[in-house]
Amino acid sequence: MSRIAYVSGAYVPHRRAAVHIEDRGYQFADGVYEVIAVVGGHLVDEEPHLRRLHRSLGELRIPLPIGDAALRIVIREVVRRNGVDTGIVYLQVTRGAAPREHAFPKAAKPALIVTSRATRPPDPRLGDDGIAVITIPDIRWKRCDIKSIALVSNVLGKQQAREAGAYEAWQVDRDGWITEGTSTNAWIVTEDATVVTRAADNAILNGVTRRAVFDIIAREGYRLVERPFTVVEAKAAREAFLTSTTADLLPVVRIDGVPVADGKPGPLSRKLRAAYLAHAAAAA
Ligand code: PMP
Repeated sequence: MSRIAYVSGAYVPHRRAAVHIEDRGYQFADGVYEVIAVVGGHLVDEEPHLRRLHRSLGELRIPLPIGDAALRIVIREVVRRNGVDTGIVYLQVTRGAAPREHAFPKAAKPALIVTSRATRPPDPRLGDDGIAVITIPDIRWKRCDIKSIALVSNVLGKQQAREAGAYEAWQVDRDGWITEGTSTNAWIVTEDATVVTRAADNAILNGVTRRAVFDIIAREGYRLVERPFTVVEAKAAREAFLTSTTADLLPVVRIDGVPVADGKPGPLSRKLRAAYLAHAAAAA
């Protein structure tokens, strides 16, 4: 099946889908995006993803070029036309094309693209055996709460992780607190079985998966505290894990080469992972 993309009003063959060279996304990273998981043909947590899209757009003062009802139809149509059963939908809105000038252009029309592709189910070994993370300085801007397409620091961080043989890089702020991964939120479990993750301030993206896991924690009666934690605390934690739309929930078993506890996925991480996968599978 040949891939189809939606580009500002038209469904076009993916290989020919394009935006203008003066699109402000291309020149200034002046735009935002969302990634929604598709499981069994259904969108996982569509509502919170669209709510966050609106919030990011509002913070950058970019209007969504189509109505919400139309956007939902486009998303479904792109999934359908690409025959995606398990995969992702990618949405991106930029301020549009205009002669290059930093200030907002008067006449630009925001550009919306929607793509969808099947992804192989993630390697089950990642969930069964856990993954390694490294820690790196957080060199990003101060509005990481906005899901901006300006991701070059995240790109460099993820590449550093790959080159170190790790799955993810946890970014550390100037005061030594872990903020989040380059494309995931960071969590630990303390000795007294409290689940800890940083509060959603401007230093992290408020993950949709993060909030789905909050709901699971509340439902199952586990203890949760939203507070920052240091690299030292994470290395000494009873368990650690990370979350995102594409990674689901993965146990972290090594931090900078140091095993977390006995170096095996902890029981709470495994339970939360199973519950999150059930939540995603139940999406309708
Ligand atoms: N933090 C960052 C920096 C991210 O890019 C992502 C994934 N987009 C997340 C956290 C996790 O967010 P979500 O659970 O909504 O995918």
